[in-house]
Amino acid sequence: MTAGRMVIVGAGPAGTRAALTLARYGLKPTILDEAPRNGGQIYRRPPLEGEFCRSAQALYGFEAAKARRLHRDFDRNSDAFDHRPETLVWEIEPGRLQGYRYADRHRFSLDWESLILATGATDRIIPVPGWTKPGVYSLGGAQVALKYQGCAIGRRVVFLGSGPLLYLVAYQYAKAGGEVAAVLDTAPWAAKRHAAPGLLRAPGLFAKGLWYLAWLKARRIRIVHDVRPIEIMGQDRISNIGFDTPAGSDSIGCDALALGWGLRSEIQLAELAGCRLGFDPLNRQWLPERDADGRAAGPKHVYLAGDGAGIAGADAAETAGELAALALLADRGTAIDRNRQALLRRRLAGFRAARAALETAFPYPHALAAALPNNAVLCRCENVTAGELRATARIDATELNRAKAYCRVGMGRCQGRVCGPAAAEILAAALGKPVEAVGRFRAQPPVKPLPLEPLAEAEPAP
Ligand SMILES: Cc1cc2nc3c(=O)[nH]c(=O)nc-3n(C[C@H](O)[C@H](O)[C@H](O)COP(=O)(O)OP(=O)(O)OC[C@H]3O[C@@H](n4cnc5c(N)ncnc54)[C@H](O)[C@@H]3O)c2cc1C
Repeated sequence: MTAGRMVIVGAGPAGTRAALTLARYGLKPTILDEAPRNGGQIYRRPPLEGEFCRSAQALYGFEAAKARRLHRDFDRNSDAFDHRPETLVWEIEPGRLQGYRYADRHRFSLDWESLILATGATDRIIPVPGWTKPGVYSLGGAQVALKYQGCAIGRRVVFLGSGPLLYLVAYQYAKAGGEVAAVLDTAPWAAKRHAAPGLLRAPGLFAKGLWYLAWLKARRIRIVHDVRPIEIMGQDRISNIGFDTPAGSDSIGCDALALGWGLRSEIQLAELAGCRLGFDPLNRQWLPERDADGRAAGPKHVYLAGDGAGIAGADAAETAGELAALALLADRGTAIDRNRQALLRRRLAGFRAARAALETAFPYPHALAAALPNNAVLCRCENVTAGELRATARIDATELNRAKAYCRVGMGRCQGRVCGPAAAEILAAALGKPVEAVGRFRAQPPVKPLPLEPLAEAEPAP
């Protein structure tokens, strides 16, 4: 093993802050990230070379100052890290990981002594009948198109789902000159009103949310609450979305739709690293267990930071990144600043409390996922319908992995990262069990699609 190699997976706010902290103590971590540039999801940087160049203000809005600061700190300290962009980590074993470099299609293995996993999150999707039609994107995908490529997913876009990102991306599209046909929120207005006192504990966040809402309303963009999506219609591609509300049925014409219900932590690498997982009722998902500073439960010298260990937002991710790095340093016997550590712990607890209020304002509509009609596609990689999954419950599929063996749900390219949350709800409802009782799709390497060529090669020397 390479003595003392510290590896960070993910160069978003959590991974960057962890790396900067280690550098501050004179250590040189290796940072691996599949993205071409650092920044992660929220502070995603546009390509270095390209036709378009949008200002930080246009790209990040209210978060521009924070994005600039993180990018500046990263760039100024670039000699202090071994940053390897466009590098996918696809397997983790004790003391060693497997990586793949996109640029030269190179597979490699890397030994580690300490590992910080800061892998972030992806969209949480609920399939809607017709969601596989061209023109339907995830909310995050729609935002990436705008942020990274400077283009919109369509001329007239509907935003469907729930959560703060729904309003934010609709606002970003409208601000960039796109036509937003409507924002369809499955959460009832009453849920937001009910969450208001809790949200007041994070006044900045609350104020931003109100601003987006007011801005969209002032431009007469239609916002509908308590929506139940029925069907995405169209011949060759999307032309309409049909939905119900307590006031009746409706349909809106559009040529693109972005959908998403909050975020889902990327936990596969943590699971492969041997971290113990527990079901978190707030996020309604399985998460790696950790102590207050990010030490993983289970393997030694593995730390977790940011949205990959539970959704809490970018500020919390930065704080957790620094805390995880301090925990790593303390475990190596380095004298750390205990006052700073105590401050970070208090700050993180505050962010997490605000998160709980957001979950109340935008509850995950699990009943909607569980009610997907039998003939609707659930797993788009393997073309498995909700009915085919329900049929496995009538044989003897009592948990998700058994159902996967019977009907191939979650067995395709995305490894259940897209359909997993809805599949769990459907199977649990069919069995009459709570969702945690049916488990989760077990992580399998490679965690993301990889060309077969490097896998066929003999394992390279470390
Ligand atoms: C699509 C999307 C859009 C978002 N937009 C906003 C927004 O506009 N405003 C807002 O406030 N919040 C937004 N969020 C939430 C916000 O991005 C997060 O709260 C914040 O970025 C969390 O920081 P992080 O460092 O934990 O993770 P991230 O910023 O997600 O960074 C994780 C990094 O890990 C890398 N990674 C993951 N797996 C691997 C692997 N196997 N191998 C190599 N690298 C890997 C990723 O490429 C990524 O760069 C968004 C989230 C998503 C998923």
